[in-house]
Amino acid sequence: MAQRKLSKEELTRESMNSPKKIDTTVDIKIPRSSEQFDSRKHKYKCSCCGKGFSGQQKNNFQKSNSPLFQANDGFLPWCKECTDKYMILLTSFYSNNEEHAIEHFCHQVDWVYDIEPLKCAREISSDRSRISHYAAKKNLNVGNRKTYFDTLKYNYERKQDEVVTSREQAKSEESTITASAVDRWGVGFTEADYKNLDEHYRMLKKNNPNADNNQEIFIKSLCNINMLMVRALKDGDSDKYVKLTDQYAKTFKQAGLRTIEEKDASNDETFCMTLGFISDFTPEEFYQGKELYADWDKIGDYIDRHITRPMINLETGSDVRDKEFFVPEVDEYEEE
Ligand SMILES: [Zn+2]
Repeated sequence: MAQRKLSKEELTRESMNSPKKIDTTVDIKIPRSSEQFDSRKHKYKCSCCGKGFSGQQKNNFQKSNSPLFQANDGFLPWCKECTDKYMILLTSFYSNNEEHAIEHFCHQVDWVYDIEPLKCAREISSDRSRISHYAAKKNLNVGNRKTYFDTLKYNYERKQDEVVTSREQAKSEESTITASAVDRWGVGFTEADYKNLDEHYRMLKKNNPNADNNQEIFIKSLCNINMLMVRALKDGDSDKYVKLTDQYAKTFKQAGLRTIEEKDASNDETFCMTLGFISDFTPEEFYQGKELYADWDKIGDYIDRHITRPMINLETGSDVRDKEFFVPEVDEYEEE
């Protein structure tokens, strides 16, 4: 059976997605022009071949939206002929993969790199190079994207909405999520979902470091509910959002989890517990106002004299007396 002929779109996409094969024998060299720039005759000079041009700049130079060329009226500093020569070299460099060559060029001059103009530029007429074709078509069907940065932003955002269907996909080079995230949440979510889930998970775990296995299950369902809440919010579905918020609150309560509490619970706790909590956040040794921790009411002294000292006497049979309150020992001799 004859194989189906691939469409132009399929051919282009296949070429774009194929691994880059570099021909290491290719030297990127462009000779200088024999007709060098002469300020008496020419207005513009090519930064590559050195050829001089008069007439309109746009006839001989391509444009870019990169700020790097803004003071040159947006024109690239090298001539169209040099671009063509450079593209021939680039195409050989990428082992005749034109898509990879064009991607390289787009990256260099900050042009949008997109399948739509690539497809159009496949119809190569004999008198025009593919890159000049691409330059003419690069604003077609690419939304408002103009620069390579726009392409990168667009691809990144699109990837965020791409559903992850396997652990291997998460491990791929372009993926921004981890395989452990896929292990934890399973497959079938988008990258944005995984980030959302992981972020919420970390927050809940941080506030509840000693969650038991039972609570762990609740924590995971809270993360799932939270993800649905974000989705409902994005879709502008307020009814759904309110319902989910309600469900979230119920689950949270049921799980017996806590958020970081700002309220002062010192009335319900013993003094030492309160000190302990304060100390968790502001350890005494790092406390700025060290005077606050000074023993103003001499409680340390009191404990030493009236608790520790008698205890030592009781335990060891010693008879250390208080330094202030004690019945002086009277010498039998003096009694007489
Ligand atoms: Zn040139």
